[in-house]
Amino acid sequence: MTDDLSGIDVLVVGGGNAAMAAALSAREVGASVLVLESAPKDFRAGNSRHTRDLRCMHDAPTNVMAGAYTEDEFYKDIQSVTGGQTNEQLARMTIRASATCTEWMKRQGVRFQRALGGTLQLGRTNAFFLGGGKAMMNAYYDQAERVGIRVVYNAEVVDLKVEDGKFESATAMVAGKPVEVRAKVVVAASGGFEANLDWLKEAWGPEADNFLIRGTPYNKGKVLKKLLENGVESVGEAKQGHMVAIDARAPKFDGGIVTRLDCVSLGIVVNRNGDRFYDEGEDFWPKRYAIWGRLVANQPEQIGYCIIDSKAMGKFMPSVFPPDTAQNIGELAKILKLPVEKVVATVKAYNDAVQLGTFNHDVLDDCKTSGLDPEKTHWALRIDKPPFYAYGLRPGLTFTYLGLKVDEHARAQMKGGKGARNIFAAGEIMVGNILGKGYTAGIGVTIGTVFGRIAGREAASQALHPVETRKDTKVEEFVHAAD
Ligand SMILES: Cc1cc2nc3c(=O)[nH]c(=O)nc-3n(C[C@H](O)[C@H](O)[C@H](O)COP(=O)(O)OP(=O)(O)OC[C@H]3O[C@@H](n4cnc5c(N)ncnc54)[C@H](O)[C@@H]3O)c2cc1C
Repeated sequence: MTDDLSGIDVLVVGGGNAAMAAALSAREVGASVLVLESAPKDFRAGNSRHTRDLRCMHDAPTNVMAGAYTEDEFYKDIQSVTGGQTNEQLARMTIRASATCTEWMKRQGVRFQRALGGTLQLGRTNAFFLGGGKAMMNAYYDQAERVGIRVVYNAEVVDLKVEDGKFESATAMVAGKPVEVRAKVVVAASGGFEANLDWLKEAWGPEADNFLIRGTPYNKGKVLKKLLENGVESVGEAKQGHMVAIDARAPKFDGGIVTRLDCVSLGIVVNRNGDRFYDEGEDFWPKRYAIWGRLVANQPEQIGYCIIDSKAMGKFMPSVFPPDTAQNIGELAKILKLPVEKVVATVKAYNDAVQLGTFNHDVLDDCKTSGLDPEKTHWALRIDKPPFYAYGLRPGLTFTYLGLKVDEHARAQMKGGKGARNIFAAGEIMVGNILGKGYTAGIGVTIGTVFGRIAGREAASQALHPVETRKDTKVEEFVHAAD
């Protein structure tokens, strides 16, 4: 970091997918780019290094996705998970731009798997990275090095100088010392505030102590907070986010994808009191897994227990830790330190209410309960074949939705309705523009890639061409023109 830091066109804060998409896009059109990443090199790339896939619109099969996934179907999925809490213009723009993402990523060196089938049924809608998110991010960083983007690790931005919507400089702590970095334009791509336990507690209260953070410990929301304090309009609510029910034994941070449990729709879930509290078979798991963290967060002591029997074994992705197991439900409840009689009664009531149908985990089948509160509406089979198994579930926070309001150029919007003069945002830090709540698998990377590319190109265009001479680009033309 001691080298010359003057003459930077575009400063990118963050080192994940959104940041590197912005950095590479800004560099593509000739801007000089500096990336400040708060993590050390070995832990670079935030939550993006944990990802596996992104969701893309396509009108016909591609070499990485099966079938077709139209704009309207994609938008319907967003509407359904958000309950309409989305900005339709930005959401549709994101969807249309998603059609070009995989080809752009391939040009940066990212490799994809062939279209998948399998348990998550995502082979049609989502493209999977070969080697996962870590390989995807390594490809971006290799490309960044090839094209001359400077990256500084262990460089946490702790302050920003912003005057009247104009970014002047950022202060980063590098090797324990504050360093002021000036640039013509800044792209904020530093994630949400999911790793800031104090901020989570402010939003959730003491319950937040029982949350596990699935990803990076470096997303503390410092840049987000500074920009909000400097008059950028906020979007979304602090309590909204992507929260999954994960193995209660997962580490506090960075447990990643392997701590997820995909057995909920095959069994029942009880709380600390031994009561069921939600329809475990409401919809396909990829459409429901992201609500279960919040459901568990609202239970006593923020814990749930998924109970299955041996019929369910082998029908979901294997867990990283083995389940607790017993030959009968009472024994299992004892191991879990749950009220034994209550759990036995809950399982019996469930079994008695099951209406036998034709079990098929690949469709919304007709196996359901009748007369139970709450009902289980699909994949309801009696829990009656020993051995029985259970997993403790905790809320696993993936990322938060409170963020910066942006327009379709990824430009941060100031309170009062004016666009910030030289501040752009991409990724988790602005995801709340599209996701007011809920989640559909793969859209985090889609939003980061689309807005990262837009932010990078807009930022470069602004840095390289004075406002008076700049042609106002129509974003949709511009996104397609990039491919
Ligand atoms: C386990 C797991 C699995 C996931 N799987 C998927 C998936 O398959 N598909 C999908 O679409 N989404 C997935 N997500 C969500 C996805 O990770 C995010 O939506 C997306 O990657 C966010 O990209 P980002 O660049 O905005 O943030 P991040 O990738 O988190 O990057 C933020 C970066 O900012 C840096 N940073 C933070 N604060 C500062 C600061 N003050 N100064 C400097 N740098 C800072 C961090 O170190 C980090 O590098 C998953 C998340 C997790 C945790």
